[in-house]
Amino acid sequence: MCVPSNLFYMVDLFLKKGINQKWPTLRSRSSKLFKKKPVEVFVKTKMTTSVAKKRFLVNQMPDFAENQVEVPTEQIIKQINEYISDIRENFQPTERNGKDGLYLGTAGVAYMYYHLSKVPAMGARREELLREAVEYLRPALDVCTYEVNEMNIPGLLLGNCGVYAVASAVFAATGEEKESLRYRELYNDAAKYCKELNFLPYGSDELFVGRAGYICGAIWMSRQTAKAFKTEDIFDLCRIVVLSGKQYAQSTKTPSSLMYSYYDVEYLGAGHGICSILLILMSVPGYLDANPLDAKVVQDAVDYLLSLQDEHGNFPAATDEIKNQSNELIHWCHGAGGVVYLMAKAYLSWKNDKYLKACERAADLIWEKGLLRKGPGLCHGVAGNGYVFLLLHRLTGKDKYLHRAIKFSEFLEDAHFKQMARVPDNPHSLFEGIAGTVCFLSDMLQPQNAAFPFLDVF
Ligand SMILES: [Zn+2]
Repeated sequence: MCVPSNLFYMVDLFLKKGINQKWPTLRSRSSKLFKKKPVEVFVKTKMTTSVAKKRFLVNQMPDFAENQVEVPTEQIIKQINEYISDIRENFQPTERNGKDGLYLGTAGVAYMYYHLSKVPAMGARREELLREAVEYLRPALDVCTYEVNEMNIPGLLLGNCGVYAVASAVFAATGEEKESLRYRELYNDAAKYCKELNFLPYGSDELFVGRAGYICGAIWMSRQTAKAFKTEDIFDLCRIVVLSGKQYAQSTKTPSSLMYSYYDVEYLGAGHGICSILLILMSVPGYLDANPLDAKVVQDAVDYLLSLQDEHGNFPAATDEIKNQSNELIHWCHGAGGVVYLMAKAYLSWKNDKYLKACERAADLIWEKGLLRKGPGLCHGVAGNGYVFLLLHRLTGKDKYLHRAIKFSEFLEDAHFKQMARVPDNPHSLFEGIAGTVCFLSDMLQPQNAAFPFLDVF
């Protein structure tokens, strides 16, 4: 089976399969920073025509050479301000834009403002940023009041719970404790919906709408609000995730100790795949220590994934791609750009250099082939791949990776990139659009705390 090159296909498929008939048809919006080209014309400037047809633009920027690395703070703040103006102008906090969860809707922009409010370099603007966060949350919270299908409620990136988690964090930051508690309770209450082994008919364990996403959001909300998550519920859900993965692996006789499918595809990457499921299991404080048998199958599954890294440093998008030697997708959602978070967590947890080497190989590949034509975003764009360097910088302390992250941020301003990049379907959103790019840029201002949204492995 051909694995879709664009995660959006899966989102679309998810919509088509009718899990939630109320999700609107996905729509295109314009962005003044990334204009749609009238005709797909490949211009020979820095690239050859054959290369131009590839998924990425050739990286001709200088790599690190033992020089001083200095984050261009003023330039980055200027970029952030331009993106924010674009969002304010073209993606307003209306109920229409409030749909589609954190992934595409205004709640994702609220997340961006909240994230900015925590960046020390933005400290003078904290109150204004939090006000904007609340403004962009409101329509998403309104949408949640009529999105009452039990299957949709627990979803982190496409569902109500992601909106509740951000609301709880934002209201805690604004000092509105009652509101914060209200959304935390709504979040916690949703655990009951995903305790059924197959609560979704097409795969119940992945990050966007499944159990791993729910657990991930609970951990994130707990960290943000400094309030403990409900350990009994979260541990129950971890047990169910492991059971589900064991049962599937045994029934399909896969070589991995755990395996999952989503719409009949055994995805391996971060988008819908096993790598983010394993990462979340490893991220629940205390769970694997308390459950050594589960810890063993998780580590075996991580090692199985590690064995799939190809000679270039990439990972196949799904098991049916394993024998394909041209694993071309190098995104956060599919390939090395997402699996690297699991390998980083494995290195931090088990201190074995083989996981660190896997991260470094992935980062080298992303430096070479990570300037994606798909645009500036997180899920399958330049900022998502740029985050890998911030991860490696935190992991290793090496300036080389900070240098590479800076170069990726500069590339976003490159006139050639702006001309060649595709405009995402939702150009202002958190995962496809510039709201996510702003998160990446703002983390350049605090590289010691940088983390891809919801996936802080440290
Ligand atoms: Zn994607």
